[in-house]
Amino acid sequence: MKLVIMKFGGTSVESGPAMRRVAEIVRKSPAESTLVVLSACAGVTNQLLRIGNLAAEGRAEDAVGLVQAIAQRHSVIAHDLLPDAEATAAQSFLDVAAAELLALVRGISVLGELTPRSIDLLASYGERLSSFVFELHLRHTGTPSTLLDARTFMITDDQYTHAIPDLPEMRHRLHRVALPLLNEHRVIVTQGFIGATRAGITTTIGRGGSDHSAALIGALLDAEEIQIWTDVDGILTADPSVVPNARRIRIMSFREASELAYFGARVLHPETILPAIEKSIPVRVLNSRRPSSQGTLIVAEPRTTQHCIVKSIAYKEGVTMISIVSTRMFLAHGFLENVFDVFHKYSTVVHTVATSDVSVSATVNDTSRLDEIVMELQRFATVTVDRRKAIVCVVGDQLRNSMGLAARVLRSITHVNINMISQGASEINISFVIDEDNVETTVQALHQEFFDNGDQNQEIFD
Ligand code: ASP
Ligand code: MG
Repeated sequence: MKLVIMKFGGTSVESGPAMRRVAEIVRKSPAESTLVVLSACAGVTNQLLRIGNLAAEGRAEDAVGLVQAIAQRHSVIAHDLLPDAEATAAQSFLDVAAAELLALVRGISVLGELTPRSIDLLASYGERLSSFVFELHLRHTGTPSTLLDARTFMITDDQYTHAIPDLPEMRHRLHRVALPLLNEHRVIVTQGFIGATRAGITTTIGRGGSDHSAALIGALLDAEEIQIWTDVDGILTADPSVVPNARRIRIMSFREASELAYFGARVLHPETILPAIEKSIPVRVLNSRRPSSQGTLIVAEPRTTQHCIVKSIAYKEGVTMISIVSTRMFLAHGFLENVFDVFHKYSTVVHTVATSDVSVSATVNDTSRLDEIVMELQRFATVTVDRRKAIVCVVGDQLRNSMGLAARVLRSITHVNINMISQGASEINISFVIDEDNVETTVQALHQEFFDNGDQNQEIFD
């Protein structure tokens, strides 16, 4: 294998033992060249953002306490992973970082103002600290490696906290700074999530951005594969806490992964890996706690000889269903527009929708502005609100070609009352709304129907 990008999330680098496992995974990788993208240790980004808020609210002492806790956590990891001499060097680095953070806290609390630019500078310390300690450990344990500050190549605009990467500039810089190191077979360790403007001011590309960093770097360097290492075995056929015998999906399409993410599968947000998919670079989701598992491979168009209709069953609880029946505009044009204008006005995202001539059913997760929405809808419609609903969603690329599939889905769950059904334009999912109390039995029944059939589809499922 030529170049492989390995991205490790926060839980994969949360402690000394976790980092040790990651170093082992990197060491054993068969790739010719490797570029490692790290997240901050689990929880640290949240703490850094909290530090900023505390400082801005004038609670500088609490902020200082949190800075010390973060420094202490990395110091414990460094002492766990490094021999004395290196640990001392790491400690001086951590001391400098802590001093910088404290200066930042003072600045923010004097001004009483937390700007997006300061937020990004603060947040960047999470990835900078984790990658610094990890790279020392990697090098110390015999893997030739180099720490490459992402701010030297991850060039973005200045929309702080959600900066947009400048791809041509990134490509140019990556080729200049990263390729020579990779050609010497040095493992590059860098930070996800953070970048810098052309003027060198630190930025971040949005929460959870490390997957995106990895996908961009992989796409710009024409990597052979991008690996997203997390703390689960990959993407499963159902939530294992509901279906204990859920199976790992070996291979799936990008479209399937997107539908699943939308319905609450927590593994990764597929839009973030779009740069890789567009260049047909396979993305593999793997478990750093169980590296022997093959994970889930996400590709643009899976080619398997085996046929399978349903790939996975997802669900989302805490859904509210709003039924809107027109009182006067029977078949009037503009009815749907009026309905959606109201949701838009209150910045509420509508998820599943089903319509008939005179009625619309819609589901929302965010009910913070529901009262206002309902009041406004009532000007031209009769509105009913049902809370404690859930959406269950059956996903699979082949759904659109499968006759009788909807019947099979419905037949397997005759015990539940379905409030609304929708098969979206993508035609690769069928979703329906039910009472929250029925989620478990519904998901189990569907899983039984579509997956509990012995060892078929070995190519697709574990
Ligand atoms: N550390 C950042 C965050 O928690 C980025 C990431 O982990 O992907 O949002
Ligand atoms: Mg994360």
